[in-house]
Amino acid sequence: MNKIELLAPAGNLEKAKIAILYGADAVYIGGKQFSLRSRASNFSLKEIKELVEFAKEHGSHVHVTVNMLPHESDLEGLKEYLLALDECGIHAIIVASPSIMMLAKSLPIHYEVHVSTQHSSTNSSAVKYWKDKGMDRVVLGRECQLEHIEAMAKKNLLPIEIFIHGGMCISFSGRCVLSNHMTLRDANRGGCAQSCRWKYHLMDGESEISDPTNLFSMSSKDLQAIQFIPKFIEWGVASLKIEGRMKSAYYLATVVSSYRKCIDLYYQQGYVTEEQIKKLQFEISKAENRPTGPGFYKGLPDYKVQLYQDHDEIVTQEYVAYVLDYNEETGIAKIQVKNHFVPNNTFEIFGPNIESTNVYIGNMYDKDNELVEICKTPMQIVYTKWQGPIEKDAMIRKIRVV
Ligand code: SF4
Repeated sequence: MNKIELLAPAGNLEKAKIAILYGADAVYIGGKQFSLRSRASNFSLKEIKELVEFAKEHGSHVHVTVNMLPHESDLEGLKEYLLALDECGIHAIIVASPSIMMLAKSLPIHYEVHVSTQHSSTNSSAVKYWKDKGMDRVVLGRECQLEHIEAMAKKNLLPIEIFIHGGMCISFSGRCVLSNHMTLRDANRGGCAQSCRWKYHLMDGESEISDPTNLFSMSSKDLQAIQFIPKFIEWGVASLKIEGRMKSAYYLATVVSSYRKCIDLYYQQGYVTEEQIKKLQFEISKAENRPTGPGFYKGLPDYKVQLYQDHDEIVTQEYVAYVLDYNEETGIAKIQVKNHFVPNNTFEIFGPNIESTNVYIGNMYDKDNELVEICKTPMQIVYTKWQGPIEKDAMIRKIRVV
C-alpha cells in the first residue's frame, strides 16, 4: 500500500519551507505564469528551483499549478515555461486546461500532470476519461460525498487527490462567475473578489427582508475532515490536499502538523481513536479563523454548513513568536516577535519535532542586552535564556483557555 500523501499549499518560499518542515509530503505552489491566484506572491523559476532542492533534502515533492484557463493571448511562452519547470525538477503540474495537459504530455518532461479540481471531476467515468487521456492523477471536485470517493478510489483507475481542509465555495468550485460578474475579476483566472462573502440587502420586490443591522452573506464554513482520514487511507486515496495558498506560516504549521500526526498515528496503530481525533481537532482550532464543517462529505451541505451572517475572518493573535535560532551551548534562544506578548509568563511551544508543550518564558532582551518588558513590535528580534523544549523553526503561542 502506498502511503497517503499530505499536500500543503504555499504562497511563498518561507511558507513552503515551513509546510515541509512541519510534515507535508508535498507542497503546491503557483508560478509567476499560467497560474490561478495571480494575487498570491507566486514563485519565480529560481525560487521554484530553490524550493525543489529544499524539498528533496527533506524527502518532499513540489507541485506547480499551471491551472489558468488561458485566453488566446495567454498562450505565448507556455511551451518554454513547461520545459523550464522540468529543468527545475518539480514532481507535478496541476492543470485545468485540456490544451495545456496535451501540450505538456507532448513534451519530453519528467513530471506528472494532475487534473485540477477546477474540472469538477465527481464520478468514476470522469476519472476514466482522464486516465484515457494519459493524465497521472485527478484532483476530485470538493462536492463529492464519502461514498462517491470510496467508489472512485476503490476502482483504482487513477491516483485520486481530495481536499481535506480549507475554504469552500458556495457554488461548485471552478464554476462561479459571481466575482467576474460583479467586479470583472475572474475567479477562474485567479482574481476572485470573494463576492459571495460580501454583505447583501435581501429584497422582496421593493421591501427589504434582511435585517439592516445584520446583512445577508453567503459564505460557507471551511472544510475540516481529519476524522475521515482512516477511511481515506483504507480506500486507497492517493493524496490529501489542504487549501489556502494565501494562509499564514503559522496556520500552515498548525494545520499541517495536526494532519501529519493523524496520518502517522493511523500507520503506526492501524486506527485513530476518537479521543486522538478530538485532540488534533483542538490543535487545528488554534489556527482556525472561521468555523469548520465536513463540507459535502456527509451529504449535501444544509444551512448548518453555511454562514449567512458571519462572513468576516477572526484575526487570531495567539501566535506570538517564532524561534529563529537556538544556541545549545549558551542556552540562548533568538526569537522573532509576531504579536504582542508580555514575557515572564507561561506560553505554549510547538515545532517540527516538538509536541505542543507549555513553557515558562522569562526575561527578554534586545540585541543591546536591554530588557524588553513588553514584546509589541512585530518582526522585532529578542533573546532569552530558554528552559524547556525548543528547536529552530518552532512557534510560540498563548495558551488557549478552554
Ligand atoms: S465568489 Fe465565492 S463562491 Fe465564487 S469563486 Fe469566489 S469564493 Fe468561490
